[in-house]
Parts: sequence; C-alpha cells; structure tokens
Amino acid sequence: MRIRAAVTESEGAPFAIEELEAGELRPDEVLVEVKAAGICHTDLICRDQWMPVPLPAVLGHEGAGIVREVGAFVTKVALGDRVALTFNSCGSCSNCLKGRSTYCVDIFGRNFGAARPDGTSALSREGELVHGHFFGQSSFATHAVAHVRSVVKLPEGVDLGIAAPFGCGIQTGAGGVLNSLQAPAGSSIAVSCGAKSDPRYDGESTSARVLAASRAGSSAAGATLDRSRRSSNASGGSGPNRSISSAAKASTSSRSTSADRRR
Ligand SMILES: [Zn+2]
Ligand SMILES: [Zn+2]
Repeated sequence: MRIRAAVTESEGAPFAIEELEAGELRPDEVLVEVKAAGICHTDLICRDQWMPVPLPAVLGHEGAGIVREVGAFVTKVALGDRVALTFNSCGSCSNCLKGRSTYCVDIFGRNFGAARPDGTSALSREGELVHGHFFGQSSFATHAVAHVRSVVKLPEGVDLGIAAPFGCGIQTGAGGVLNSLQAPAGSSIAVSCGAKSDPRYDGESTSARVLAASRAGSSAAGATLDRSRRSSNASGGSGPNRSISSAAKASTSSRSTSADRRR
C-alpha cells in the first residue's frame, strides 16, 4: 500500500515528506494507522548520525494509532483497536523471558537496526529499500508496520496524543524516577534541564522526567512546563516538529532523556 512518511535521506538532512510503498505484513507484524507521534532526542541524534542508523530511513519511535491489519500470528490486537507503539525486543532471550525486555540481548539491533532481524524492510521507494522498523515501528508516517511486541492495546477513551510519548520519553523518565531513583510518592526531587551541547536541540528540558517527578509527588511545575511546550509547538515550533506534524497529522513534543543519551 502507499503511505506517506517523513524520510531522513542523509546525515542531518531535514525530514522530507514522501510517498513510499509498504509491503506485505509478516506474521508477527501489525499495520497501524498513525494518529499521533512524539519526537524524541533519539530521533534527532539518529537523523544526525550520532547513532549510526542506516539511511535513508523513516524514524519515529513514539507512535499511537489504530490497527488496520494484523499478521497471521497476531492475537493480542484486532482490527480497529487503539494502540500505542513502543520499543522492540526479541521475546525469547533470558532477559525478555524474565519480563526485563529493556535488557533484551538484541535491544540495539531490534531498535536501531532500522530493519527486520533478517535485514529486510517493509518500506521501499520505486523499488529501492528504505529503512524502517525503527524501534519496531518507524512512526513518522501515516502508517507503521509495527512488530507485535512494539504494540500495546489501549483502553477506550485514552487520548492518542497523550499515549504516544509514553512509548519512550515518559516511560524512560518515569523509570528513572520510580525505579532507578526509587523516589517514593510525596518525596521532593530536583529535575535538571538538558545540556545545551548543540544549539539545534535548543537546550530542551526533559519534560518526561519532569512529568515523572510530578507523578512522584512533586509540584505541578512539570505539567505546566509540558503544556507550554505543546502550545509553542502548535503555533509553529521548530523545523523538525513542524515537518513531522504535517507528515502524520501528529501531535508532537520534543524531549531528551538521560536514557536516550545512553542508547
Ligand atoms: Zn530479548
Ligand atoms: Zn526516545
């Protein structure tokens, strides 16, 4: 089927909206019509090749949308389900079997390889391979060919624009506060702003960590910060944000997290 996607053509190139072909689903894949996508520091450093993701590629790893097709082995979601998309993992290594899929032995290949484990991609352009499957999804597009392990069914009524950034930024920030820092509810913590190492990234504060701090009992400053960022994005925002928004009619937010920098 024909889809539209924000393609990263070469190192540092602006996201380019293009028509691509999305091929047949594999048995363990789900076609998701993307309704919202966050944009994360990891997308930008992969675009800029700080992380060597093969190009041309469709990035995006915080998608949310509606299931439009399922592969033959998929049973956990069905047509019409509302889903969020998150990182991928193998499901069969010792860490995945213990429920610790963030420590999957193939976490790098499954998320930064921008291809299926066998090296193929569902995405192409006039017969030429375009790398997809970024974090098991490549959600900077009208449709994502997602791996079933990247798909999480949402309850009715959950706003897809809110659900999308849970795919990376919010869960990473919440994990940092609740698991690594082990900050109990009601405690007070300090949340630092992102380092301004590159002017293109605008010294973004880490809204995910601020939101997690808010959940852990801090003041409501986090929510206020995040809302102000959303409204600035809606009124035009920076170049990349605007491009992605028009690609997938997505609500966007820019974040960087300490975990992303480690990846
Ligand atoms: Zn694994
Ligand atoms: Zn991320």
